[in-house]
Amino acid sequence: MKKLYGVIGLGRFGGSICKELSKEGGEVLALDLDEDKVNEYKEIASDAVIADSTDELALKELGFRNLDHVIVAIGDNIHASILTTLLLREIGVKRITVKAQNDYHEKILQKIGADEIVHPERDMGKRIAHSIISSNVLDYLELSDEYSVVEIKAGEKMQGKTLLELDIRAKYGCNVVAIKRGKEINVSPMADEQIMYEDILIIIGADKDISRFEKALV
Ligand code: ATP
Ligand code: ATP
Ligand code: CA
Repeated sequence: MKKLYGVIGLGRFGGSICKELSKEGGEVLALDLDEDKVNEYKEIASDAVIADSTDELALKELGFRNLDHVIVAIGDNIHASILTTLLLREIGVKRITVKAQNDYHEKILQKIGADEIVHPERDMGKRIAHSIISSNVLDYLELSDEYSVVEIKAGEKMQGKTLLELDIRAKYGCNVVAIKRGKEINVSPMADEQIMYEDILIIIGADKDISRFEKALV
């Protein structure tokens, strides 16, 4: 059966999620208080409605209980975001993803049982900062407060060397989990794997270790 999605709040973040889900063939119910926003998404989403998501009756009448996954993308109004999440949980939505404004907001969302909490501005800021520090850092994904995955273009110091020669795990405590070479991807590189020009390494580790690795080799 086709998955049913709901997007609440059609700002830039919610709007972008709505567009992408629809583009990928998803069935999306879009909701916003603002009539202009809703009109903008009438043609894009399967259905777009004007409503206040803090209105329990409205959520029930719109059939939110039948949705598989709802994204709460209300920004500035933290109060509305929290209340909406709480109502969706009570109604019985299976999965709820909420955009958090700050750490305090996140804590409350965790307590009321949001399944996923995202910080798009903060995370994108970090990713961009890492690629600004080094143009060889192509992407950066935070796994937790301490651990991350980074995608790094092999620098001159790495080219022609094997993982053993660079001794990455022993010296820097990070693991090379994959090496991309053109269209090929090796997901279990061995110690004797030689790094070539234009290879892209996917590395997992503690932030402090990745940082040591980057300073020494990237
Ligand atoms: P962006 O994603 O553009 O950064 P933002 O974080 O600045 O957005 P807002 O513009 O504050 O967020 O809110 C996003 C949308 O959520 C707005 O279009 C707003 O009308 C809508 N919204 C706010 N409160 C509610 C509510 N109670 N019910 C439905 N929609 C709401
Ligand atoms: P270790 O005792 O460090 O776990 P190992 O017994 O797994 O090493 P090898 O697989 O031969 O031994 O690897 C030797 C060294 O080569 C490792 O200590 C590490 O520094 C480096 N190395 C090998 N594979 C990787 C990898 N995928 N990522 C990072 N470093 C690697
Ligand atoms: Ca914003």
